[in-house]
Amino acid sequence: MGSSDDPNRTQAAIAACAEFHRRSITDRDGFWREEAKLVDWHEPFTQVLDYARPPFARWFTGGRTNLCHNAVDRHLAARGTQPALIYVSTETGQSRVCTYQELYEEVNRCAAMLKARGVGRGDRVLIYMPMIAEAVFAMLACVRIGAIHSVVFGGFAPASLATRIDDARPALLFTADAGMRGGRTIPYKPLVDEALRIARHPPRHVILVDRGLDPGLAMHAPRDVDFAAARAEHAGARVPCEWLESSEPSYILYTSGTTGQPKGVQRDTGGYAVALASSMRRIFSLAPGETMFTTSDIGWVVGHSYIVYGPLLNGSPTILYEGLPIRPDPGIWWKIVEEQKARTMFTSPTAIRVLKKQDPAFMKRHDLSSLRWLFLAGEPLDEPTARWAADALGVPVVDNYWQTETGWPILSAQPGVADTPRKFGSPSFPVYGYDVKLVDGVTGRDAGPGEKGVLTIAPPLPPGCMSTVWGNDERYVSTYYRTIPGREVYSTFDWAMRDADGYYFVLGRTDDVINVAGHRIGTREIEEAVQAHAGIAEVAVVGVQDAVKGQVPIAFAVVRDASRVADAAGVAAMQQEVMQTVDRELGAIGRPARVHFVTLLPKTRSGKLLRRSIQALAEGRDPGDLTTIEDPGALEQIRAALQVP
Ligand code: AMP
Repeated sequence: MGSSDDPNRTQAAIAACAEFHRRSITDRDGFWREEAKLVDWHEPFTQVLDYARPPFARWFTGGRTNLCHNAVDRHLAARGTQPALIYVSTETGQSRVCTYQELYEEVNRCAAMLKARGVGRGDRVLIYMPMIAEAVFAMLACVRIGAIHSVVFGGFAPASLATRIDDARPALLFTADAGMRGGRTIPYKPLVDEALRIARHPPRHVILVDRGLDPGLAMHAPRDVDFAAARAEHAGARVPCEWLESSEPSYILYTSGTTGQPKGVQRDTGGYAVALASSMRRIFSLAPGETMFTTSDIGWVVGHSYIVYGPLLNGSPTILYEGLPIRPDPGIWWKIVEEQKARTMFTSPTAIRVLKKQDPAFMKRHDLSSLRWLFLAGEPLDEPTARWAADALGVPVVDNYWQTETGWPILSAQPGVADTPRKFGSPSFPVYGYDVKLVDGVTGRDAGPGEKGVLTIAPPLPPGCMSTVWGNDERYVSTYYRTIPGREVYSTFDWAMRDADGYYFVLGRTDDVINVAGHRIGTREIEEAVQAHAGIAEVAVVGVQDAVKGQVPIAFAVVRDASRVADAAGVAAMQQEVMQTVDRELGAIGRPARVHFVTLLPKTRSGKLLRRSIQALAEGRDPGDLTTIEDPGALEQIRAALQVP
């Protein structure tokens, strides 16, 4: 899979990459001072890194800047008439190209709407929107005025939305009447209304984009305002950028962990701008003006970093796609690549596995000569999928590994630094800035080549990574820095291994977090959602391997009244009810693929659920050490439910 068969060139590329990385760690100040030139500073920073309060790192302190200025305003002179945001919806058939100048106009109008409602610096704004251009305008408008956005993925149910509202306490919420998926309309507004009804700290204002998709749309004045009307009021508005100190928050993005309570990952302003601008050049290898096509959703971190901020900071057109990869036919993404001359594409292994099952003729129909790189992230990339994509597209496939917390890749090939050969199954090397250490999770000692260890990062984390958990510094430290005995290192909660050539292989999570189609979800969150069903006494949720989605959740539930699942009809009805409960409480992304009913769950004598044993059985593996099990009969029930011997 390498880019060069010449062993000398290969070695030289690997050495160049290693040297770049070494310098980023041994000369942090010099290295990041140089990278910081990629963004505009209204006032220069006085210190590259303030690390007076470990593990909290403050980057570019004293510097004043603005993400929206860097993503939009500063490109106006050179690129005002060039495309910035290319919106394509195969759900509604609409498309729209916004030049940098048009984007500037729209963002200013949107910022004026916020200002008119008293929203300003430090206030939170929740964005619960489908993949439409207005969602990007809203994000940029927030950072323009120093408001902190929190985008919540449209698939989350009212209860999940309310939890996030109560944590972030937004002053205003942006939404739309509905989203669309696979030709089906998914009303958003009733979900928002319900979330605002149950939230303890609902926002005072709601601005709604009416796409004309929901004939039953109900607006509640004076709280709810129509986006189009507000936009008309602010034609020609100019709202100056708020010059934030580098460490001031730009956004909060909620993510799942071991507990049922999602964490608000807080991102700074200056560090994020520098890290992303740098990554566009050095990792994604994209020159200003060249087009990026990232297929994620703005509700996820990949959408934040590589649909919105990264490409725009770089002065690149970015494609915002609303739709499925196989509709109207499986050639749609390649048609977009051809039409927009996309150079770098970024998607997930799950999407490629879906496309791999389709007729290759759909791909062959399109001229993909503009495409130079395919980046894949979010979940482990299996070799057959990587090989298929590389062969079918004829471009290098770059597996990159990172997390919501870090905001940009931790492990990746960095073709903009040096074109190192890639190995199937490996996201290559630590990215510059990340002092990656593989450690034994029990002893805390360093793991050697070929040994499995927990992937950790010696602090300080580089620019762009989370600064803290929103409103909870203590939780940031205890969650991420207190898990490895004797070592104060940031834990990624992933197992990994490094081979003799220095290539890393990510082996899966160390905690109870599962990854469904590249989306992280905590088994505890799903369990809590299942338990919202009054008829369920207890439940265990585990992730099991799935050929397309990587992993899917399956649930083993104990029903309070066993007579309800005494026959096949009762089982089917109860399964249906449990799935609907999860849809309602958490959203369809958490819905278990299967629900099995048992009368007992396998637990240790101290009452801890033996999740790993359940998961092993569900994947046809050995359940492991069972010496601590309270009642072996519980495991027999799991076996029987799964019909494994
Ligand atoms: P999220 O924060 O939702 O993006 O999920 C991050 C998690 O996804 C990581 O902790 C890994 O478990 C997994 N992940 C992301 N990218 C990769 C990759 N390239 N290879 C393996 N696992 C990955």
